[in-house]
Amino acid sequence: MSVQAHPGPTLELIPARSGIVGDALRVSRAIPTKQRRLVGAWCFLDHAGPMDYAEGQGMAVGPHPHIGLQTFTWMIEGEVDHHDSLGNHQRIRPGQVNLMTAGRGISHAEVSTRDPGRIHAAQLWIALPDAERHREPAFQHFPELPKIACDGFNATLLVGEALGAVSPVPAFSPLLGMDLQSATAAHAILPLRADFEHAVVCLQGAVSIEGQRLVPGEMLYLGTDRAQITLDSTEAAHLLLVGGTPFEEDILVWWNFVARTREEMVEATRDWNEGDRFGTVTSTDLPRLHAPDPSTLQLRAG
Ligand code: MN
Repeated sequence: MSVQAHPGPTLELIPARSGIVGDALRVSRAIPTKQRRLVGAWCFLDHAGPMDYAEGQGMAVGPHPHIGLQTFTWMIEGEVDHHDSLGNHQRIRPGQVNLMTAGRGISHAEVSTRDPGRIHAAQLWIALPDAERHREPAFQHFPELPKIACDGFNATLLVGEALGAVSPVPAFSPLLGMDLQSATAAHAILPLRADFEHAVVCLQGAVSIEGQRLVPGEMLYLGTDRAQITLDSTEAAHLLLVGGTPFEEDILVWWNFVARTREEMVEATRDWNEGDRFGTVTSTDLPRLHAPDPSTLQLRAG
């Protein structure tokens, strides 16, 4: 499949899909969909909650591998423990970000700290550019992110630069991630980089963006070439804005891997199921996930 064109400004309302993380945690998956596989380098966007989950229904994902991407976790309510094959054990709390750079290969597990409990979180994947995707794996925890007032909205800058602030979260391609909340009816004009493409997911409440109403379970794709957007809410609203320069490489996304060729998927699957490339997660008792057979699956171009 060819690389997505530079689309110009647009307003595409895209319904999220329903997904399950681990055995039971229900999520709303806004990226990828058949309409849009990437927004900048963001190649996966799951929204969990806000909800009170019953016993056994929280996040409990046993050790599993990743290649070619960064996992980006934004915790809004609840707590999750991250365990990885580099020996990191990090609890993530509301207002914090975990960033795991898979590079050539890492494995990790993620477990809610309470059962039953409450969760509200977004987990995204960032595709690594070809020059960076074989790098050594790494994990970073960010306990605090910059907070900026933007008219009637309170912004938290998750990745990139905006509104005079710079996020401490590093990126390997030009990228933006921003959490926006209004406590009541609000109006804001938010400056954007015109060379980025952008999309907004509504996490709670409702908002009107450039006149288009957006509610939870939908993503509004805004295209490129916008120097600003107008946000209007008539009630409390909670949004996630993502953006970046259109990703100029054809990628394959399958299971927990981002790569370029089917052969890489087959090799990564074999290495996980039989080899030692992904190390061992020692700090959890959860069972290891088994990779499915890549030969039975249609690999989808990004
Ligand atoms: Mn994972």
